[in-house]
Amino acid sequence: MRYISTRGRSPALSFEDVVLTGLASDGGLYVPETVPQFSREALAEMAGLSYAEIAFRVMKPFVNGEIDDETFRRLVTEAYATFSHDAVVPLNQLDANHFLLELFHGPTLAFKDVALQLLGRILDHFLKKRGERAVIMGATSGDTGSAAIEGCRHCDNLDIFILHPHNRVSEVQRRQMTSVLADNVFNIAIEGNFDDAQAMVKASFADQGFLDGTRLVAVNSINWARIMAQIVYYVAAGVALGAPHRKVSFCVPSANFGNVFAGFMAYRMGLPVERFVIATNANDILHRTLADNDFSKKELVATLAPSMDIVVSSNFERLLFEAYDRDGAAVAELLERFQAEPAALAEAPLSRLRERFASHSVDDATILEVIREAHHRTQEILDPHTATGYRAAERERGDESVPMITLATAHPAKFAEAVVKAGFPGVPLPPHMDDLLEREERYTVLPAELSAVQQFVAENRR
Ligand SMILES: *Cc1c(COP(=O)(O)O)cnc(C)c1O
Repeated sequence: MRYISTRGRSPALSFEDVVLTGLASDGGLYVPETVPQFSREALAEMAGLSYAEIAFRVMKPFVNGEIDDETFRRLVTEAYATFSHDAVVPLNQLDANHFLLELFHGPTLAFKDVALQLLGRILDHFLKKRGERAVIMGATSGDTGSAAIEGCRHCDNLDIFILHPHNRVSEVQRRQMTSVLADNVFNIAIEGNFDDAQAMVKASFADQGFLDGTRLVAVNSINWARIMAQIVYYVAAGVALGAPHRKVSFCVPSANFGNVFAGFMAYRMGLPVERFVIATNANDILHRTLADNDFSKKELVATLAPSMDIVVSSNFERLLFEAYDRDGAAVAELLERFQAEPAALAEAPLSRLRERFASHSVDDATILEVIREAHHRTQEILDPHTATGYRAAERERGDESVPMITLATAHPAKFAEAVVKAGFPGVPLPPHMDDLLEREERYTVLPAELSAVQQFVAENRR
């Protein structure tokens, strides 16, 4: 198994290289050269297995023997032992045929743990084997930073530097990052906004000279291993509800499109999926593209579902590559045009997408209404991201005899502001985190200056 770029102009890479590389040199994203296939029998055999065992079987073809089976099984088992629920990602029934797939039982209470608990371990394994160390840099307005820190805190060969905008992330989100006191974890509070932090990380990747040859690694969802790890829960939920003998549908609260693209991969590998419903908040580029072929940037709106606040969906490129029949030149041309001006998809790829994807956009007022309505009907308090999914799933349900699985991407305690605005007294943090607000914190405040940040990273990496 080799990995190729969606823009067709970078050399193919091995799994190990693709995990360590991030973005392709031609600006594209890596995808597997061929899609592994699961027979109906192979899928049927997964029903009832542990999550770690399903994970091992689903990911094995992508790893391609580059990590030996015994080691890979151990990494997977360790990654999912950090989850507080024995099912890892339990299904919760909402009505006769609508289910919530709870992806928030990991260390930071959001679905990004599923991928990042494993990615940290895979990176550490490859670095150890190569006798190398690496530095991770990332900017966060919330979820990704804490999940990346939790995923890397035990990694001997990695140092992680996460930039967040000083005084502009919620207290729970800040403390989830800053209360991790491991020697390889560095939190930097930037005296600026998220875009300043993001720009400094981008500039550091573009010119890595300040690290004297140490590798800089990206753990955002352009990293193929994150997509790979997310394919697993689509398969696990599908077989739990009767696949391959029965089709299922999924509804996915979406932003950068990494999550729903993983679902599409599960479908391409043989999981029978009737449809994917893409839920967006007011930042609705995915919905506009699918519904109106309006593939254009719109100004960012700050919403009650902040982890879905994006202008551009980076992983949508991976789906476009499939929709354009893997024509890298056509994808490159479309995306270059899109960067400069409003663009539109060609007719054939768009209609191909519409065969499998539906979409719905949910504004803030509706998010609050849905949190109240879902509680009234099911006694569940949804987090605001999951609320967009709940509404989109109901509106775009399609064939009601097909089970609809809505992905619950965060625990409601993590986004208390929306829950309180919806009229609830708030949601307590789960027991393993109930002392979060008393834990010691460690972080460094730096000005929004590239040289100051790079000097800090260069001096503190081990
Ligand atoms: C990151 C995130 C999303 C969006 O996921 P994508 O893979 O970027 O589409 C949705 N909900 C929550 C809670 C998140 O943290």
